[in-house]
Amino acid sequence: MTDSKQPKVTLVGAGPGDPDLLTLKAVKAIQSASILLVDDLVHPDVLQHASASARIIHVGKRGGCRSTPQAFIEKLMAQEALAGENVVRLKGGDPLIFGRAGEEKAALQAQGIEVEVVNGITAGLAAAHDLGIALTHRAHAHGVMLVTGHASKVQTDLQMPAINWAQIARTAHECRLTLVVYMGVQTAEQLQKALLEGLPPQTPVAVVENASLPGQRHVCSRLDQLVDVFVQEKLASPSIIIVGDVLSGIQHLASNTALLKARTG
Ligand code: SAH
Repeated sequence: MTDSKQPKVTLVGAGPGDPDLLTLKAVKAIQSASILLVDDLVHPDVLQHASASARIIHVGKRGGCRSTPQAFIEKLMAQEALAGENVVRLKGGDPLIFGRAGEEKAALQAQGIEVEVVNGITAGLAAAHDLGIALTHRAHAHGVMLVTGHASKVQTDLQMPAINWAQIARTAHECRLTLVVYMGVQTAEQLQKALLEGLPPQTPVAVVENASLPGQRHVCSRLDQLVDVFVQEKLASPSIIIVGDVLSGIQHLASNTALLKARTG
């Protein structure tokens, strides 16, 4: 229990995987927690910073796997914070990038609970780092789009229209923007088809699985072979897909790297 007058929840970004990529602010928040709610992409070593007396609750939400319902997590956080616990919610990457931090923040604040968010390094940046590329290399890109591959269907609950991939592809091509796709493993086939409506088939793509972790694998190819890459290399979640000419440089290095398989044909 804490003495703080105001109930509080801290949403902490645990980074892309490598526990050394935690921020000092994240470490301090974890150390001070009396209850930790932990997502399943959070590296177990991150919990070494937790106090021995802290309660640790795993609340995984991986697509396709059994997961704790979002409403239950929000209720649990609120209940414990209102009971005076120092609640820390640990999320993979950055809580504000496809991390539902916005929704959780609003739900908690509506109950008078103070919410602090601690940034983490998002997986897309870790993936670019592992490839040794700059997402915004000024010779190739004016900027970056972070997009989810998951919301291909209409999100009726949020009244959001389905993603217009063809439009995204055209914009990326015309405006020279690098695409960084999260949660795109299951929709790779639709993604390839739709992106080809706006981007040339030879556009470089890379898939980075387990970015920042010892088991990291990455493959470079071209857009019209994205699905083949997934099938042949048996790439799985969590993976980031990067699309754009910022990758063109590393295709030349492919033959020097065992894990990097360029299909430039
Ligand atoms: N908030 C997180 C993203 C959560 S969505 C962040 O900022 O990184 C979950 C998706 O993130 C996964 O489907 C995958 O696309 C990506 N991801 C998370 N960790 C990853 C990792 N270590 N390597 C590659 N992709 C990862």
